[in-house]
Amino acid sequence: FYETRFLVSCCKLKNHFDQRPLFRKKMQLQQAKMTVARRPAGRTMVSRVPVVRVNATVAMPAPSSTAAQPHGRVFNFSAGPAILPVDVLERAQADLVNWQGTGMSIMEMSHRGKEFESVIQKAEADLRALLGIPSNYKVLFLQGGASTQFSMIPLNLAKAGETVDYVVTGAWSKKAAEEAKKYSDVNIAAKGDNKSLPPVSSWKLSPNSRYVHYCDNETIGGVEFKSTPEVGDRVLVSDMSSNFISKPVDVSKYGVIYAGAQKNVGPAGVTIAIIREDLIGHCRPEAPTMLDYKIHVENDSMYNTPPCWAIYVCGLVFDKLLKQGGLEVMQKLNEEKAAILYDAIASSNGFYNSPVDPAVRSLMNVPFTIPSQPDLEKAFIKEAEKAGMLQLKGHRSVGGMRASIYNAMPVEGVQALANFMKEFAAKHAK
Ligand code: PMP
Repeated sequence: FYETRFLVSCCKLKNHFDQRPLFRKKMQLQQAKMTVARRPAGRTMVSRVPVVRVNATVAMPAPSSTAAQPHGRVFNFSAGPAILPVDVLERAQADLVNWQGTGMSIMEMSHRGKEFESVIQKAEADLRALLGIPSNYKVLFLQGGASTQFSMIPLNLAKAGETVDYVVTGAWSKKAAEEAKKYSDVNIAAKGDNKSLPPVSSWKLSPNSRYVHYCDNETIGGVEFKSTPEVGDRVLVSDMSSNFISKPVDVSKYGVIYAGAQKNVGPAGVTIAIIREDLIGHCRPEAPTMLDYKIHVENDSMYNTPPCWAIYVCGLVFDKLLKQGGLEVMQKLNEEKAAILYDAIASSNGFYNSPVDPAVRSLMNVPFTIPSQPDLEKAFIKEAEKAGMLQLKGHRSVGGMRASIYNAMPVEGVQALANFMKEFAAKHAK
């Protein structure tokens, strides 16, 4: 009897101390010291490093509609930086502290080493396979965002005083044209109205322009080209930042394709440029070295330290997409997802409105408004947040709502949003 009483008291005492953070910390430290002391000499720490599993935390309580989401994640409709596939994040998490038994993270090792070389080479090979990039095109992993391409394009493709054509269909192509004006004689060949796209037959291309620049998907307005504009043998340059690898593209019709990674591809910090070989090597001599495509080609995207981690994560995404069946599969999925949202808008009896002409509605960025009661838009965004659907606020320049549904957004996320839209409309429609 006394023995049992003694044991119960000991347990209670231990529990009492276990609750105390300072005591717990001391004990953990003590245990760690003992582990180190027990380790046989000569054995490295590498094999002992555990993979730390950290659950993603958000400020929101776990909402019912996302209860089934792994790691307590929500449905994230951000326009960018945007959602990444959860299995890619898990893989990156596992590799974070110790990449393939090297005892180092990919972001801790030399970009000149064979390990990172294998990462960047596989990333390029997989991207080439995904897009069917012809061998006379170079693939570059650059920095400075798509915004730096706004300067690199005119500096590399046109000499001072030469004419270049820009098609302005929204905020991003307008920015690109404004930047090009610093370096070239810019002809605005056509202008959109944020709702529709000017037909290619109406574009007023200048006779001797060095290239034609357009934006394949305007992230803010949600207008997207459904096929490659036919510009004959002119050099076509496309900003595909927000729909890159969302669908198959015939790369051979382009001079340059570029895209910031942080929407459909990977983390912010890397920009992908695909450039036809004959357009390389003509950079203006006064341009900064870092803005010369040739320098980056000659150095395999490693003229300076590349964004190693971002490139590594992009590589995981390319690998996943190839295993999923490639870009035809992605396009079909993206069409299905977009149709769910556009149908929810169309069947709302005018409660919701998509400002965009159905023929050019983006599969990636779906802006919508509540035209009869704009005051309700704030409540929509707030209530959606409570239901586990985040980042639905429209771009600050246009307001309303915008759902970005890139490759990594699961169909369940889009369905959950469509259901929420129906419930919200039923509650508030007059
Ligand atoms: N082009 C498009 C279509 C974009 O959506 C963006 C970013 N939202 C940019 C260019 C600029 O990209 P970055 O922030 O990488 O410079």
